[in-house]
Amino acid sequence: MLSNLATRDVETLIHPYTNLDAHRANGPLVLERGAGVHVYDTEGRPYIEGMSGLWCTALGFSNPELVEAAAAQMSRLPFSHLFSGRSHDPAIELAEVLKELMPVPTSKVFFTSSGSEANDTQVKLAWYYNNALGRPRKKKIIGRQRGYHGVTVATASLTGLPANHADWDLPLPGFLHTACPHHYRFAEPGESEEAFSARLADELEALILREDPDTVAAFIAEPVMGAGGAIVPPRGYFPAIQAVLARYDVRLIADEVICGFGRLGTWFGSEALGMSPHTLSFAKAVTSGYVPLGGISVDEPLYAAMVDQSAKLGTFGHGTTYSGHPVACAVALKAIEIYRRDRVVEGAAEKAPHFQARLARLAEHDIVGEARGIGLIGGLEIVADKRSRAQYHPKAGVAARCVAFAQGEGLIVRFLAGDRVAVCPPLIITPDEIDDLFDRLTRALDRTRDWIR
Ligand code: PLP
Repeated sequence: MLSNLATRDVETLIHPYTNLDAHRANGPLVLERGAGVHVYDTEGRPYIEGMSGLWCTALGFSNPELVEAAAAQMSRLPFSHLFSGRSHDPAIELAEVLKELMPVPTSKVFFTSSGSEANDTQVKLAWYYNNALGRPRKKKIIGRQRGYHGVTVATASLTGLPANHADWDLPLPGFLHTACPHHYRFAEPGESEEAFSARLADELEALILREDPDTVAAFIAEPVMGAGGAIVPPRGYFPAIQAVLARYDVRLIADEVICGFGRLGTWFGSEALGMSPHTLSFAKAVTSGYVPLGGISVDEPLYAAMVDQSAKLGTFGHGTTYSGHPVACAVALKAIEIYRRDRVVEGAAEKAPHFQARLARLAEHDIVGEARGIGLIGGLEIVADKRSRAQYHPKAGVAARCVAFAQGEGLIVRFLAGDRVAVCPPLIITPDEIDDLFDRLTRALDRTRDWIR
């Protein structure tokens, strides 16, 4: 029997990334409030938010300083925009702070309201840039199978997940996908991580040559794949890939939407994984998820091309109403101040060995084939047979069941396609709370195993 709110939900709301048919019977989990790493449902039941919402609430829930920063900006200047040269101090100050923090050469910052818009901007700028340079054929963009970059027409095309393509008439032409760097699933028997990386770099090179290097503009990658299953690339992966890209003048875009702002124990994921992109996209934890904000770094060559184009065309014809929203910028400034003052990123690095040790122990569980992660992010691969690594039939919904059992244990984690379970708690989680999280997850795995048998 669905509660009143649940019934109203089913009658009125469309939920993103939800089986809409099953939702009519199951109804929603209605959350009411949050504090620290916990959220509470309408019955007052607490849950450890083991996913930081959607990989974003790095500072946990109900941080009073973020709330105060939003309220103060709301009363001072609740809206203004950046069109036609108009500006405001939160956007200017945030751009300055980000420019200083960026792990890539950054001339300017462009703001959006989401990760999808940030990556969509990356696609458009890759095209715009090559038009400015008189290379109108150099337009194709390469993503990776299982990569996730958003849901707009262009970013769903960059994404390499079946649910974002099937029956959506995507990807668009000009969007290509190269192999997923998941050693556990795709390495040959006995192949080392380094050899696997070298093989993937060779495959990328073959793809670029097949397509004609003069037609390939950019390659986009998350430092650690999030929605694809919390997949950490094999050793040597990015240096090998970057060597290929450099040979053919293909720009590297780092999608730091999940990894940015401390997730891997470094300010940006690129720093942890030897990635040297030309530009990066950020969103989510830049405001700890409290208000929507995203953006990209713009390097000097790209900026110079944008200036030339707008001189030629009369304007830089891109941007949304909420690009650089003052409330979002004010909250981001406060979040970054807290990250710095409270050593949140360093704290994530200090807690990571404990988190990863607890995660690694789950690999011993009967139904877990692989437990992998870095920093404060982790993924589990549920398998039917540990030796052959065979998976359960997708329709069996084993990972979804595990996540439902976790919810029963008072833990929110996320299931991902391919029977994967992701964990990505707020960076402020304490060592005791990490233990609590993994105790609950272990019980959920036990219940999943018992359910299967
Ligand atoms: N890029 C990555 C790596 C993401 O994980 C996401 C969202 O989860 C996006 C882009 C899209 O961001 P948004 O949902 O804010 O549009």
